[in-house]
Amino acid sequence: MSHHLNKKIVDFLKEYLDLYGPDTYLDEKHVEYLQKEKPTVILTAPQKSEKMIMRDNQKSQSDEKPDTTLWNFMREIQECAKCPLHKSRTKFVFGDGNEHADLMFIGEAPGADEDRTGKPFVGRAGKLLNKMLSRININREDVFITNILKCRPPNNRDPEPEEVKECFPYLHKQIELIQPKLIVALGRVAAQNLLNNSASLKNMRRQKWEFKGITLIVTYHPAAILRNMGLTDEAQEDFDYINKTYQNLI
Ligand code: SF4
Repeated sequence: MSHHLNKKIVDFLKEYLDLYGPDTYLDEKHVEYLQKEKPTVILTAPQKSEKMIMRDNQKSQSDEKPDTTLWNFMREIQECAKCPLHKSRTKFVFGDGNEHADLMFIGEAPGADEDRTGKPFVGRAGKLLNKMLSRININREDVFITNILKCRPPNNRDPEPEEVKECFPYLHKQIELIQPKLIVALGRVAAQNLLNNSASLKNMRRQKWEFKGITLIVTYHPAAILRNMGLTDEAQEDFDYINKTYQNLI
């Protein structure tokens, strides 16, 4: 491979790592390219300070949440070991938000920041979600946010069907307890699992679906928007559609 092309690939991967940091999935080929350059600089994830670790460990959701049916359900299942993901997780991520929310967001699975803190959508994707919500005047505290899987798949790979099968009943129970009026599936994996289909995300957006009698809308996962900022306008239009539907339902 020419030096020029190799440099181009390395530059691209560097940019990619700058954007996604230690959460980046690299396959063997990527690592091989990078190692030819400056592996120590590029591949070293930022270390957590002692202060950060202490802050992470200070309070778990279990200590923070009231003695209500939903949060007691979390306490019941937080030591779950039904699938192999329990072995690699740092923290179980139940979901967070208003237990009486009319609007519920469901993503795919926890990422690195979520696995570290035990809270959903706290990394860059979470910040973008907050922004999209505030743009349509919805407070994050008023909605409930969770994922199909409650434990992080290694390297953020897609959930395996067996893992979804084991974890899905927890999501069903959450929905039954929260009783939202509108569910928003964030991304293809969440949407396909909730709707039990294999349609493309493009074909699922901007229309009303139903999950257990509850209206469901599909939009991009915020991480996909971070990867391709060209999707921002479409995502904003989706959120306008979500808001319009939501206002008609409440
Ligand atoms: S992903 Fe779900 S089923 Fe698997 S261990 Fe975690 S909570 Fe249990």
